[in-house]
Amino acid sequence: MKRCPDLIVIGGGIIGLSIATELANVGLAVTLIEQGVFGGEASVAAAGMLAPLKEFTKPGPLLDMGIRSLQMYENWVLELKEATGIDCQLSTAGILTVAMTDMEEEWLQERYQWQKSEGYDIQLLSTEEVQEREPHLSKMVRQAIYSPHEADINNRLLLKALVIQAEKRNVHLLQNTTVIGLKHAGKKITGVVTDKGEMEADHVIVASGAWTADILHQVGVDVPVYPVRGQIAAVDSIHLPLSHVVFGKTGI
Ligand SMILES: Cc1cc2nc3c(=O)[nH]c(=O)nc-3n(C[C@H](O)[C@H](O)[C@H](O)COP(=O)(O)OP(=O)(O)OC[C@H]3O[C@@H](n4cnc5c(N)ncnc54)[C@H](O)[C@@H]3O)c2cc1C
Repeated sequence: MKRCPDLIVIGGGIIGLSIATELANVGLAVTLIEQGVFGGEASVAAAGMLAPLKEFTKPGPLLDMGIRSLQMYENWVLELKEATGIDCQLSTAGILTVAMTDMEEEWLQERYQWQKSEGYDIQLLSTEEVQEREPHLSKMVRQAIYSPHEADINNRLLLKALVIQAEKRNVHLLQNTTVIGLKHAGKKITGVVTDKGEMEADHVIVASGAWTADILHQVGVDVPVYPVRGQIAAVDSIHLPLSHVVFGKTGI
């Protein structure tokens, strides 16, 4: 491990791969270290919804960042397609958040009120309007929020495109290599210790998803990142009867 890049990125999920390629693009020598295979953890499991409004229960800087990020997605995936030939199947049909019971209606109304009062472009649809948009959806749906700017993407294709783009931009890609510690001189991080040896760099970016807190804890930095169990079921569909992502109330 004799290399001395400008920058090491720890973690080859969607975040680490994106950061590595963008920084390589501005001329930095970047090494990306992944303990397993690229995208093999949360990034491959995701459903691909690009829906910040769905994720939050109140406004704040993280939601603002999610909205800004969503606005940049269309251009970003176009650039990726030009660079790699991979179409990541970004769908901009919007998202329907539905309510079928009294309790869900109350929850939906609350969401609608704060999102509307913050100026987000959303619409409250009646059962008839929902049926017009999605005729195959249950008639038990009483109301829905239609969010036209939220989207979804094929995250598996996105990962594939990001790996190809990283290769094209000469990011030094290491898989099956685990970072077991950070090297530091006083308060300055100077590199990483891996199960295959040490590597020095001017900067180290920790993009290791659910493992981030473990790595940073070693150097006295505590971040409130912890794993949350997520499950997904993928089903085949002979013909796709739905044209929007349909989202309901979860227990979260
Ligand atoms: C079932 C499910 C569905 C989801 N659906 C959505 C959705 O629809 N929309 C959405 O926006 N988000 C969704 N998410 C969340 C989304 O998947 C994550 O927010 C996103 O993938 C995080 O990307 P990441 O690169 O930060 O993390 P990861 O993809 O987990 O990447 C981190 C990488 O770091 C590596 N790593 C960790 N420690 C080390 C180490 N010490 N040395 C080297 N490498 C290390 C890991 O192996 C991993 O590959 C979903 C998640 C799950 C589980």
